[in-house]
Amino acid sequence: MDEQQVISATPKQLYIGGKWRDASEAGTLPVEDPSTGERLCDIADAQPDDAMAALDAATEAQEEWARWPPRERGEILRRAFEAITSRAEEFALRMTLEMGKPLAESRAEVAYGADFLRWFSEEAVRIGGRWSTAPNGAGRLLTMRQPVGPCLLITPWNFPLAMGTRKIGPAIAAGCTMVMKPASATPLTMLALAQVFEDVGLPPGVLNCVTASSASSVTSPLISDGRLRKLSFTGSTPIGRKLMELASGNLLRLSMELGGNAPFLVFDDADVDAAVEGALVAKMRNIGQSCVAANRFHVSERVADEFTSKLAARMGALKVGRGTDEGIDVGPLINADQRDKVDALVKDATGKSAEAVVGGQPSGGHGYFYPPTVLAGVPEDATLLGEEIFGPVAPVRPFHDEDEALGWANRTEYGLVAYFYTRDLNRAVRVMERLQVGMVGVNQGMVSNPAAPFGGVKQSGFGREGGEEGIDEYLATKYCALNV
Ligand code: NAP
Repeated sequence: MDEQQVISATPKQLYIGGKWRDASEAGTLPVEDPSTGERLCDIADAQPDDAMAALDAATEAQEEWARWPPRERGEILRRAFEAITSRAEEFALRMTLEMGKPLAESRAEVAYGADFLRWFSEEAVRIGGRWSTAPNGAGRLLTMRQPVGPCLLITPWNFPLAMGTRKIGPAIAAGCTMVMKPASATPLTMLALAQVFEDVGLPPGVLNCVTASSASSVTSPLISDGRLRKLSFTGSTPIGRKLMELASGNLLRLSMELGGNAPFLVFDDADVDAAVEGALVAKMRNIGQSCVAANRFHVSERVADEFTSKLAARMGALKVGRGTDEGIDVGPLINADQRDKVDALVKDATGKSAEAVVGGQPSGGHGYFYPPTVLAGVPEDATLLGEEIFGPVAPVRPFHDEDEALGWANRTEYGLVAYFYTRDLNRAVRVMERLQVGMVGVNQGMVSNPAAPFGGVKQSGFGREGGEEGIDEYLATKYCALNV
């Protein structure tokens, strides 16, 4: 399929109760290509009534869906995995068009995102319970794990498929119904995914998809509705906090996958070339727009110059352009605000004595491009050391010893992921144990894996997606005391 065909084949309506329908009021939501700023298409703009209809459908489907045999729920996930995999090129092109990342990265996300469906197809049949004798011998203790109930899933724009399948996969496996609200910047991938689930036989009402220009007006009424039982949110920490407050009225089960400020440490005993390659992955995946992006590089003063110049050479050689073009390594940022925020953070650092070894100025012309940038000599008070950059900028700050490195690593309100490079096993264990994060990459620049529990601590949120833990977020434990 070419670009036109992919866009015209994508559903543009709301998916509610197994039917595609327009929003209750006229008005549409435009979707644009961030590499040109041009409109790709218009889609339905849901109103609060539509969202409520989606919750009605999810509530109605819940009881019967919970009784479906786990194997059959798993097989729906497996068929969806196979359908996406067989249409990988189409999914990748759609994602590049709406989000901007280069096609090679979109292909990688399609594989990663689909894999959550395969993983949870295998987990659906492993939901167990416990049986034990009460300690005093009088009676038996039985526990069972049941679906939490209707869920609201809210996802960001940076990984339009995987952030959805990480939630939809375990929800289906556990027997929950759901209302999905994708990011308004990248809704097309989720609409195409809903169509895949329709095609592979997911019963009406289990997955409902609501696209909207006003996120709060369609989600707030659901969060306050007593029929909703869970909210799973991936997005920024400030919005996560707001949603937690709102959810407290209804005491919803919560999963919060929030922002990050990942440190990347390079010790003096590290393989510097390997660290540079790992840094490139940790920094440049998704054009730096990832919650697990390395946000700051703390490098032993003994290897800092070597690391900085090698990283600058690799970053400076990356080809920037429209993600659909051959050989492009770096696409645009998602919108003008994001590009301007990155520019302001770089200007703040260079204004305070940091030096741009490569990059450092926004690209002109169409689209929201910012060049790969390496900053050396970044001072302690540079704002980007404390804030999520969400762009292709690598600030480097040397450290003297291990304690100082760990002090820097943990000096943040966030706690999602940290990376470090060392060849000393004792140091590796010490550092792993002392990092205040939910995930650690040791001698590697990427941690994402459907078979592993993804999630953070501190202001990066709580709850885990993927791994054996991922399905627990969608299950409630019931304990039965048996008088036998
Ligand atoms: P965001 O602005 O917080 O938005 C995330 C989602 O929430 C979008 O669907 C958005 O809808 C919706 N939303 C915004 N305001 C809302 C409100 N008042 N009520 C209900 N929903 C609301 O975040 P983003 O800019 O899309 O994504 C980037 C952030 O996500 C970064 O901080 C990144 O670190 C984080 N992230 C975390 C993880 C993780 O696993 N920890 C993974 C990926 C991204 P609209 O699109 O319509 O605004």
